[in-house]
Amino acid sequence: MNQPGGPGKFAGESPYALETPHGIRCGICPNNCTLTEGKEGICRTHLVKNGKLYTIAYGNPCAVHTDPVEKKPLFHFLPGSSSFSIATAGCNLACLNCQNWEISQQSPKDISHTELFPGKVVEEAIKNRCRSISYTYSEPTAFYEYMYDTAELARANGIKNLLVSNGYINEKPLLDLCKYLDGANIDLKSFTEKSYARLTRGRLQPVLNTLATLRSEGVWLEITNLILPGLTDDLNMIREMCEWLFLRGFADSPLHFSRFHPMFQLAGLPYTPVETLVKAREIALETGIRYVYIGNVPDNESENTFCPSCKMVVIKRNGFAVLSENLEHGACKNCRTAIAGVWE
Ligand code: SF4
Repeated sequence: MNQPGGPGKFAGESPYALETPHGIRCGICPNNCTLTEGKEGICRTHLVKNGKLYTIAYGNPCAVHTDPVEKKPLFHFLPGSSSFSIATAGCNLACLNCQNWEISQQSPKDISHTELFPGKVVEEAIKNRCRSISYTYSEPTAFYEYMYDTAELARANGIKNLLVSNGYINEKPLLDLCKYLDGANIDLKSFTEKSYARLTRGRLQPVLNTLATLRSEGVWLEITNLILPGLTDDLNMIREMCEWLFLRGFADSPLHFSRFHPMFQLAGLPYTPVETLVKAREIALETGIRYVYIGNVPDNESENTFCPSCKMVVIKRNGFAVLSENLEHGACKNCRTAIAGVWE
């Protein structure tokens, strides 16, 4: 296979640094941290040393697994295939409900990890018969340089690249990465700036920009909305979000409403009532979103894919397992309606 032996071109010094009178500004994400000598960014993965911005999240993943692609979740992307999945420590947001907080709110310096440079990641993906590599679990924007080099090499070796992200990334690094991206699942955590600020310490608009960029660059896109009881379960807000998605051309992007399990700083909240998720799904379908799923609820009908025309089940699932497919060349076998997705 085509692989360099060790670190790739972005190991060490970060390519998106700008010198300012107040320090070095990192241009990877909308935090736009300006760092003086020895200081770390909000993500804990970038720091300034000898006047240069470095990544310390390169080739040192703390999580490495082979997952079903459905776990990302990506339901319309090579269903039933395996995705080699990696993460380093660190994240550029600080979500109160983070399900990976043990790694996302840590520095790569402080957490046990393995050494796995891009060439080895691609080799392992091939060895494990994975069709794709997922940059996932924590936040890939925080290990952007490692992801970029791995994605470039994966593309050269016929492996697809999947971004599973909070979408909090600046346009230029995202556009550069899109050259090698095949699919993405982006968290759209709510639809107001106020709740983004309260729950994540980030902003909504950059995430909406990311959705638009991925779409215009032709990257297959699915969206996850985790519904937090009492915080992001306002059905009027959910309707506004769905209307925005429909009007901006995301009707064919699968939308996954996900059930909240109490954890991290929101451990005191209850589980999302299933009725709320069902209602949200109804609203999304009413507004014109064609493929709407409910996640984190075992044995629910809404984990299947229905043909938007004849309503036949075209992909039957149980959890992350694909049980049967009624698709032929990406179309419903019953009525021949094309089902949006990446099928081969
Ligand atoms: S990637 Fe890290 S250092 Fe760069 S702007 Fe974002 S949070 Fe700050």
